[in-house]
Amino acid sequence: MFRSDKSPKEGDIYKTVKIDDHVFELKFGYYADFERELGEPVVIYPDLSENKLYTKNGSLLVTAIQDPCAHYEVHDSKQKNECCGDCIHYIRHGDEIGVCGRLNRNTDIIMN
Ligand code: SF4
Repeated sequence: MFRSDKSPKEGDIYKTVKIDDHVFELKFGYYADFERELGEPVVIYPDLSENKLYTKNGSLLVTAIQDPCAHYEVHDSKQKNECCGDCIHYIRHGDEIGVCGRLNRNTDIIMN
């Protein structure tokens, strides 16, 4: 496998995203051991569907790649991936971690 000097290495920091008091240091790595045999490390996202976090005003934090909820509405049907990142309620389009403009723990019952 070809690796240039610029190829990311496991543990390298990809980006730091700050939302309110939450700071996410996104690093390169592998989700499972067998992936090490398959190629270069990928950006590891926090699991915000399992471990829910909220902004100061109660809005749900979501990653762009997580599975959509029942309120999903596609932002651009030509780029439909069926994940939070292409939902019209996803605030901060283009960022890996964003805020859901639809779900708020102060006003909604938030499931799963
Ligand atoms: S409404 Fe919020 S949680 Fe549901 S799919 Fe859209 S961005 Fe994700």
